[in-house]
Amino acid sequence: MHLHYLPVDLHTHTLASDHAYSTVFENIMAAKNKGLQMIAITDHGPKMADAPHYFHYYNQKAIPNIVNDLIVLRGIEANFLRHGETDCSPALYNTLDIVIGACHPHVLEGTSFEENTDIIIKIIQDHKVDILTHLGDPLFPKDHEAIISEAVKHNVAIEINSSSGVTSRLGSTDNCIKIAKLCKKYNALVSVNSDAHFCTNVGAFDHAFSILESAQIEICDVLNSSPLKVLNFLKERGHNISSVLFEYADNLPKIRY
Ligand SMILES: [Zn+2]
Ligand SMILES: [Zn+2]
Repeated sequence: MHLHYLPVDLHTHTLASDHAYSTVFENIMAAKNKGLQMIAITDHGPKMADAPHYFHYYNQKAIPNIVNDLIVLRGIEANFLRHGETDCSPALYNTLDIVIGACHPHVLEGTSFEENTDIIIKIIQDHKVDILTHLGDPLFPKDHEAIISEAVKHNVAIEINSSSGVTSRLGSTDNCIKIAKLCKKYNALVSVNSDAHFCTNVGAFDHAFSILESAQIEICDVLNSSPLKVLNFLKERGHNISSVLFEYADNLPKIRY
């Protein structure tokens, strides 16, 4: 049976990024209503023009890891910078549950195909990001095959972004299909996410599902197919995930794909 459902969304924005429009709690309730078991809050890093002060990222520990029976991961979508730097410091990486990241316009400008490729490969090697988000953005051309093969070596996941080519980064879809096919070829870990900038889009994965289908990737093989799989991945990546959370995730109803 082909079940078109994933219980986890690891890429959502709140009004802490001024160009997104819902609160953390609205995202949580929207996720609950869709039957999700886990979301990550991943607002844009401090180098984006409308990002919050860095206190915002550190103090996410104020948000409980379980709210209304939903697992809530505290995260960031870091901005990739020149020379393989990001705007998420190692100290911040260690306080957060999850760090996703990408090249974003107005933060990184005027970089070449070679520079974009080198930046991302250095970030993978330097352990600065857990999931590479919206890699298919045509604004930042890059060597997808070199990046994906390096990501596999370093246990970094590749996102198939359900907003790319639909509401954001128009013209991404052909790249996303190529990326998904490379993920299949290299057996890369794939993460499907909404990149919601409004709560009703939390858990909306339809566009990404059609891309997975083009690459013959099974939904059950995706990182977000179980909260436990996500927690194990984040622990392997060096995040400090509490045993309480593992226990909680282990007791959730399992999804049968
Ligand atoms: Zn982004
Ligand atoms: Zn985003």
